[in-house]
Amino acid sequence: MLREVSIEDIWDGRFYSRNDAVHIGCHDCEGCSACCRNTGDSIILDPLDMYCLTIWTHKQFKDMIEKEIEIREVDGMILPNIMEHDESHPEKPDGCPFLNSDGRCGIYQFRPGFCRLFPLGRYYVDPTAGAAAPPEPSVPSSASSDGSASSPSSVPLSGEDEKHRGFYYFVQDGECALPDDGKYDVKVSDWLGVENAEQYEKFIVTWHFFLKDTSARLKRYPKPAREPIARSILQIFFVQPYDRFHDFYPQFEERLASVRRQLSRL
Ligand code: SF4
Ligand code: SF4
Repeated sequence: MLREVSIEDIWDGRFYSRNDAVHIGCHDCEGCSACCRNTGDSIILDPLDMYCLTIWTHKQFKDMIEKEIEIREVDGMILPNIMEHDESHPEKPDGCPFLNSDGRCGIYQFRPGFCRLFPLGRYYVDPTAGAAAPPEPSVPSSASSDGSASSPSSVPLSGEDEKHRGFYYFVQDGECALPDDGKYDVKVSDWLGVENAEQYEKFIVTWHFFLKDTSARLKRYPKPAREPIARSILQIFFVQPYDRFHDFYPQFEERLASVRRQLSRL
């Protein structure tokens, strides 16, 4: 979820990279499911989430739409998010449809990136937009995985691309329901629990800036002209089934190249 808020209002004053230790460990959320119950439309899916959902549920986009997922406009793009109300099971209380009766995530291994990240957030840096420097943190150091202190300005930019676009991790202050004194340090990459964190971060950066650049570009067109393009992007990255027997990233790159070719003709 892209939040239009000042970072100073929601962060703990430190930036982290995937190799840093961060004080958010919560014993696998044992006994708590607070952040899975009031999701609203905040869990916006990316193409990797869609791929993972299709693997886990054996369903495609068309089988899940208006049951577990819905679409909405996000900054001119049309993107799917997890529904808070489970239309397939109206008897269930509101909350994520993948939350099981034990209060545990029913798709934990394949949960969306947003859920993997929480309560971390990402602070994106885009030198091409003149926003290279992060705000000065109020806390002057961040703990690295070996326990030594490192200056926030020396925290490596995660997922950095050829334009030096990337992001830093930060903790969204006060978002997790568990008190801080019950938590312990975990390495960011372990918290995310993805197979290849470096490749994953590159994908995150590529997808984030693809959406941002395309959204900015589409704003130059009147709504009737840009909506079919936004729908076509939804179709290519989400509706068109992925091959679950092959790796996600080459499939994503192929689709991205095709969409970029189409957009370059506009
Ligand atoms: S609020 Fe915190 S402890 Fe509770 S489920 Fe979410 S991440 Fe886990
Ligand atoms: S997908 Fe899993 S972790 Fe994410 S909100 Fe739903 S139940 Fe919680």
